[in-house]
Amino acid sequence: MNTLAVEGKLRPVNPATLEPVGVVPVTEDVAYVAAGAAAAQSSWARSSFDERRVLLERVAEVLVARMDEIAATVTAETGKPIVEAYTTELMLGVEQVAWLAKNIERVLAPERIRYGIPYLAHKRARIVYQPVGVVAVITPWNFPFSIPLSQVAGAVAAGNAVVLKPSELTPLSGEWVARVFAEAGAPPSLVSVVHGAGETGAALVQAPDVAKVVFTGSVETGRRIATAAAGLLRPVILELGGKDPMLVLRDADLERAVEGAAWGSFANCGQVCVGIERIYVARDLHARFVDALVERARALRIGRGYSPDTELVPLITERQRDRVEDLVAEALERGSEALTGARRPDVELPGWFYEPTVLAGGDPDARLEQEEVFGPVVSVLPFDDEDEAVRLANGTSFALGASIWSRDASRARALALRIDAGMVWTNDLGISYGAGPAPWGGRKDSGFGLTHSKHGLYELSSVKLVDSDSGRVRVPWWYPYGPRAVDGFKGVLELRHGEDGLRGAWAHRRGLAHLAKRYVQQ
Ligand code: ADP
Repeated sequence: MNTLAVEGKLRPVNPATLEPVGVVPVTEDVAYVAAGAAAAQSSWARSSFDERRVLLERVAEVLVARMDEIAATVTAETGKPIVEAYTTELMLGVEQVAWLAKNIERVLAPERIRYGIPYLAHKRARIVYQPVGVVAVITPWNFPFSIPLSQVAGAVAAGNAVVLKPSELTPLSGEWVARVFAEAGAPPSLVSVVHGAGETGAALVQAPDVAKVVFTGSVETGRRIATAAAGLLRPVILELGGKDPMLVLRDADLERAVEGAAWGSFANCGQVCVGIERIYVARDLHARFVDALVERARALRIGRGYSPDTELVPLITERQRDRVEDLVAEALERGSEALTGARRPDVELPGWFYEPTVLAGGDPDARLEQEEVFGPVVSVLPFDDEDEAVRLANGTSFALGASIWSRDASRARALALRIDAGMVWTNDLGISYGAGPAPWGGRKDSGFGLTHSKHGLYELSSVKLVDSDSGRVRVPWWYPYGPRAVDGFKGVLELRHGEDGLRGAWAHRRGLAHLAKRYVQQ
């Protein structure tokens, strides 16, 4: 690991240069921070939609005013290309904040509902969306700014306070999230950050004041968090890994598909939960696609993230590179062929670089074909028909994202319905992370629960029904009971849903008359 909670300090380093980036003290009393958040939340819960909107608008402005510093921190801690710091961190993040500012009232204003049942027609009812309280947001290092920013902003927009636990590898990027909220005028302790490794995260999950946990990270840790939370009956949202397939159909625009494949597989050094890990190409196109992708992969410029030209950066830690090397070695032993890469590049830098790697898929049971690699490695396999493509695409334990590449939009849309995934993109991938109305989340080992969009806001709210009855209509299903009541309710059932409707109800007319009398009395 390139940083550990040693002697109460986190010491993130730049994975390209191995230079230290800073020192951050580990938080000692996580429960105390959560209690502070609870105090702040009790007033924020009463904030008007206007106040929330103003805060979020201001957050967006501060973020833009500070963008160069934020991008520099993110690139220092992750090594990621500076272009990606602006696109996948700042752009995606700020669009979410702006959408929340514009839409929070529309989504979370009390909603009048009609029951649509004649004997309840006199009632008025509303759904109200109240905050859940303190939300714990636990995040990984691969998008150390946009993931926490969008989740924190959603939680705050819904009236909650947040305690954020950023990855121990990227504490300073996480710190920026709280800082932009503070500089935008958020009340003290509305957004707090706790620092540390897994133990700190575990302490936060258990902190008495935490009402809900939003976790993004590995399957293994997600399972641990779900287990701990289950003991407390504490709800969790789990955004876990992916093993995203890319389906290139016969009528795909080959050049675009190759460009998309290269970016989808190698951006952020492949350390993207919706990164492309498996490519299935229609047999007719397969050879041309593979040649072009190999050529494109070889042309990627490897280096330190600060340089605007850099396209491929190192893995985040030595351990992560070791893991990628092990997975590739095992796949090669089991029959995969390395078409390019599968080794460390010649670079002057000491960091944990690995060449962009294209494998011709071998054994479908190889770990590399089943587990999330989270590195610059993609395997390519031909398919003969769409059924086979769907079977291959759905053949792992993950179900996060997928992409379909075709010139025929309606065919791609129809195929999208057959892919087991939370998000399916056509001729593109991933960008909906920045789109406010787009939900984000997966199934199976990719987790459960949604972030972003109205669905994400509902998850961060306590959804309450408020039923208003004038109290002037008598309630026929209350006491006293008796045979006429039984007869009457049988009549109601026949009338409302029976095959013969009114005719079926006729046999129970006496009971119905009895109920009707009670209903209108008073
Ligand atoms: P990654 O290896 O991709 O960083 P992890 O799932 O290990 O993924 O980590 C994601 C986040 O979860 C990090 O902030 C990490 O510190 C935190 N974390 C790790 N273990 C635990 C745990 N047992 N409980 C809560 N949070 C944890």
